[in-house]
Amino acid sequence: MKSQWNDAAAREAIDAYAAKGVSEDIALRVYTTRLLGRDPLLVLHGGGNTSVKTKATDDLGHDHAVIAVKGSGADMADIEPWGLPAVKIEPLLELRALDTLSDEAMVNVQRLNLLDSSAPNPSVETLLHAFLAHKFIDHTHAASVLSLVDQPDGEALAREVYDGRMGIVPYIAPGFGLAKIAAEVFEQKPDVEGLILHKHGIFTFGKDAREAYERMIEMVSLAESRLRQGRPIVFPARPLAATPAAAAEIAPIIRGAAAIKMEGAEPVRFIAELRTAPEILAYVNGAELQSYSQRGVVTPDHIIRTKNRPLVVPAPEAGKLDDFAGAVRAAVAKFGAEYDAYFARENAAAGNTKTKLDSSPRVVLVPGVGLFGLGRSAKDASIAADLAENTVKVVTDAEAIGRYEPLPESDLFALEYWSLEQAKLKGAVVKPLTGQVALVTGAGAIGAATAKALAADGAAIAIVDIDGAAAKKAAAAVKGLGLECDVTKPEQVRAVFAAVCERFGGVDILVSNAGAAWQGRIGEVSDETLRRSFELNFFAHQAVAQEAVRIMLKQGTGGALLFNLSKQAVNPGANFGPYGLPKAATMLLMRQYALDYGADGIRSNGVNADRVRSGLLTDAMIAARSKARGVSEADYMSGNLLHAEVTADDVAQAFVALAKARKTTGHIETVDGGNIAAALR
Ligand SMILES: [Zn+2]
Repeated sequence: MKSQWNDAAAREAIDAYAAKGVSEDIALRVYTTRLLGRDPLLVLHGGGNTSVKTKATDDLGHDHAVIAVKGSGADMADIEPWGLPAVKIEPLLELRALDTLSDEAMVNVQRLNLLDSSAPNPSVETLLHAFLAHKFIDHTHAASVLSLVDQPDGEALAREVYDGRMGIVPYIAPGFGLAKIAAEVFEQKPDVEGLILHKHGIFTFGKDAREAYERMIEMVSLAESRLRQGRPIVFPARPLAATPAAAAEIAPIIRGAAAIKMEGAEPVRFIAELRTAPEILAYVNGAELQSYSQRGVVTPDHIIRTKNRPLVVPAPEAGKLDDFAGAVRAAVAKFGAEYDAYFARENAAAGNTKTKLDSSPRVVLVPGVGLFGLGRSAKDASIAADLAENTVKVVTDAEAIGRYEPLPESDLFALEYWSLEQAKLKGAVVKPLTGQVALVTGAGAIGAATAKALAADGAAIAIVDIDGAAAKKAAAAVKGLGLECDVTKPEQVRAVFAAVCERFGGVDILVSNAGAAWQGRIGEVSDETLRRSFELNFFAHQAVAQEAVRIMLKQGTGGALLFNLSKQAVNPGANFGPYGLPKAATMLLMRQYALDYGADGIRSNGVNADRVRSGLLTDAMIAARSKARGVSEADYMSGNLLHAEVTADDVAQAFVALAKARKTTGHIETVDGGNIAAALR
């Protein structure tokens, strides 16, 4: 590992922040905190923190000695000064005289002594930083250090590698007790350059930002060179099926099995993100996977994101997916029962004071395929996958030099159910479509607005369009997946559904929206025109619906098919036959899906919109048509019973309403401002 310190960049940070009234100490604290936060081998998703002891002035002009320490909710990779709340240090130091201090009291004292009452909560490791004498302190859960200390003889190994340069602190749960012990270890040998926290991580410190940071890099590098002495092949592989099933084929099975069925309500679904790096495959294909993968998390704070153990499922074989599905359901049930037993056992030991969290896995290991991270949102799934990938690295390196042995479950239970750890997950709002994956075809005005509206209600979004750039642009607006696809080509349809399954694990909502209008007097229209319109306005709807249903059936958690229909389907306009005829067929297609798949919990509905400014009804067409009728453009667009122009967002809201309407199927929602001639009967 190499130092990323750069004098010019450090200078730049000092100058840029000085212009905003931020001190040099804080500017440099921001600078090296980001250097640490941007290396995933050092810091992942909140797994680390930093501090600086400095001076700050309050509103009365009084100076205070403070510790500015990473606050919860701030990400080290792009931290700003607000993410380093300043706490008066004297009252914190006085706490050291106490024998015990409850977590609530610790948080209270920290908040009482903030200089800014609206600042985020200082890190749960604030007191540890405060009790150490150095000005700059850096803390990470570096992967290589964990490989070293997550061993039966981890403390001895750390002594050997660091040869007196680092203090070694036995494992104690984070909080007041750990802060006191760490300070005692430091004071026994005040010339140490940092501390190794057994089965937890590493602290380094220095008189300035550069020294603390570069000590972190050096100490982590020493661990890395010790690990390089390990065995080159760590996990002898076991023979797998000749043809393993594709990841996209099994993702919906896993995702469906992990979903929590709720009586009379939508299931609690998870997003599943696939990872397949070569090291992951070596790990999941190892003959001893059931042993090394089940020993527990590499550092305690991972447990709130990944639970203590991953779910291991059998290797899936191509063509035998029903067997695999049965095995996965059994494995999930066993996982849940074991989690419940673990909770009951440890909660009894803790005096039955805790409330159980859900029993679903957050990481799934699949021999021959890779690993899936599961989370209620795409972001949470990605975090779980990142932590699982990091775990693969730590365990592989640990096994290469010895035996991976993390903390026992009782210590981890305390962390999993520690109120201050759970507080890190607060703020994750559950919305009506949280956990659901929506695929929208067509990235025009209606498609983009619908993607946005579904995302606002919590769905993860994939949007496809024949114009790949348009799809990517619409997807970027909702942090979704944008893919190029000609929906009239079945092989392209299959490919994009597979990509969505690999990225999110499956599909719950299909908005089949892509379309185009062809015109012509029906007796004279060319056969080619009519057939082209049928390809896009009928057969493509069938192709995407068929693929969506195939995936929904594997998930076994129902789903919603939504079709963009047209007024032309019920109220044909002159010379619009080439458009209206396939749309009429699509309306019946919608009803056929409602009929054939209602028993599977798959609902099928359509939106019948009219006169919406979009790719089908362009500004030029609006100008021409209003002129032909001798009315203004505004009057033309609001020529309906309500005298109101229908917007793409109005149509989007109708799709969202139908996505949530649990007891509605075979229905057409009309969004046209009112048109009696086109009213359904
Ligand atoms: Zn830590």
